[in-house]
Amino acid sequence: MSGTRIRTGIVVVGAGLSGLCAAEALAADGHDVEVLEASDRLGGRTRTEAAPLGLELDCGGAYLGNRHTEVRQLADRLGVPLQRTVAPGAALFDLSGRRYRDDADAPFNALALGLALDRIEELTEAVDLHSPGSSPDAERQDRTTVHEWLSTERMTSATTLLIEQIVREMLASEPDEVSLLHFLFYVKSGGGLDFLTAFAGGAQEFRLAGGAAGLSERLAARLDRPVRTGRPVRRICGTTGGIRVEADGFVADCDRVVLAIGPAPERAVEVAIPGVAASPVPASTGGSVVKIHLVYRTPFWRDSGLSGWVTADRAPLRFLVDDSNGRDGLGVLVGFLTGAEARAYRAGRITWAGLTARLADWFGPPALAPVHVTAQDWQRQPWVQGCYAAVPHPGAWLDAGSPGDPGGPLHRVGAEHSPYFFGHLEGAVRSANALVQRIPRPAGSGEQVPR
Ligand SMILES: Cc1cc2nc3c(=O)[nH]c(=O)nc-3n(C[C@H](O)[C@H](O)[C@H](O)COP(=O)(O)OP(=O)(O)OC[C@H]3O[C@@H](n4cnc5c(N)ncnc54)[C@H](O)[C@@H]3O)c2cc1C
Repeated sequence: MSGTRIRTGIVVVGAGLSGLCAAEALAADGHDVEVLEASDRLGGRTRTEAAPLGLELDCGGAYLGNRHTEVRQLADRLGVPLQRTVAPGAALFDLSGRRYRDDADAPFNALALGLALDRIEELTEAVDLHSPGSSPDAERQDRTTVHEWLSTERMTSATTLLIEQIVREMLASEPDEVSLLHFLFYVKSGGGLDFLTAFAGGAQEFRLAGGAAGLSERLAARLDRPVRTGRPVRRICGTTGGIRVEADGFVADCDRVVLAIGPAPERAVEVAIPGVAASPVPASTGGSVVKIHLVYRTPFWRDSGLSGWVTADRAPLRFLVDDSNGRDGLGVLVGFLTGAEARAYRAGRITWAGLTARLADWFGPPALAPVHVTAQDWQRQPWVQGCYAAVPHPGAWLDAGSPGDPGGPLHRVGAEHSPYFFGHLEGAVRSANALVQRIPRPAGSGEQVPR
């Protein structure tokens, strides 16, 4: 292998939120830490774009809620304030060719919907977060897709439609791509359906001022040594003296490795350390998502009493939220093209003209003329497959272990390596914090430096 060779204590692979959280804390504990990142930027599945009009737009992970205690503590420690996302007005439902406002119409039979959601919550109770494949009904639930399950449940068609929408919205996948077990695990891990789907009081209550990628940038700035970007790790192997990490043009010999790259990218890394098992998170495709922003001079939809929040059951756009708060009076709409729509966007079948036409349908002609638009297609990011998060193939949890880190000289952290808030910023931070507690400080490193 040609290129730079170094010797260090710990190599962290991946400069997303989890890797940088772990790296910063381990360095503060006195470890000699080197961070290798495949891409040319920090933040992984968070990316904040500086847009015209002084805007910072989160093109990846963005929102958090009250229960996301460890990200909130981190933001506080790093001096990143939170902004409320809550938008006033009525949500719009565009379902089965009809339009409903939630302050005026009743799009669903409230009783039928309540019973269906209760049924989901009841099923989640039995799921073992630490070993989903060992849950009491795992064999059946993991071999059944959400779509198949819905076809056997006696629910109204409107309720079925809404649950399918929730799956697309939460997992960026189609209901026939997700096992019932993974859906139930994800719901339980994330704090329940009510919390996961809500803005006010839910998982989307806050946004990080200046953008979510600021967390990673601030963490990296606290390291003694800069992150080595453009260094994709290809191979990790055991040596007589410890572990060797081989990246493009760079080799590091070390005592421990923290893999912080997510289960799908991990498949591209050859791991050859005796006694170290493959990733405990099973084979997965990952969701597909394109996150779009449309910026307007004002949040004009509020003039009609609308919140900007739309749920629709057809292409080109099924989910839209208002992200205007704290933006100097500008109107910012954020849309998510997930699953089939994300793939259609990539194939060129969904265009801005089609998207703004749909918005004009909901909010009137001003929607046709945004002053700025962005689209981040996460399927085009080679190093961060699985967005928002990994979605195990149906049946795959049955052969897998705990999503947590099994321990050993090769550790795994990341949003998919936490039984709690799997797939979220909070899961990424929790997994890193949990790991750091378990790694002893190096001899002679003195008192722990307050973080
Ligand atoms: C569009 C979108 C919206 C989201 N919205 C939210 C939200 O509102 N709230 C929320 O909580 N979560 C959200 N998420 C999820 C959240 O962003 C992620 O869970 C979190 O950022 C994952 O952090 P991580 O450190 O586990 O992994 P990542 O961010 O994926 O970091 C992994 C890093 O490893 C690098 N890497 C990969 N392979 C290699 C290799 N071989 N060698 C070296 N480096 C490598 C990658 O380039 C990357 O930088 C969203 C995600 C997306 C994409």
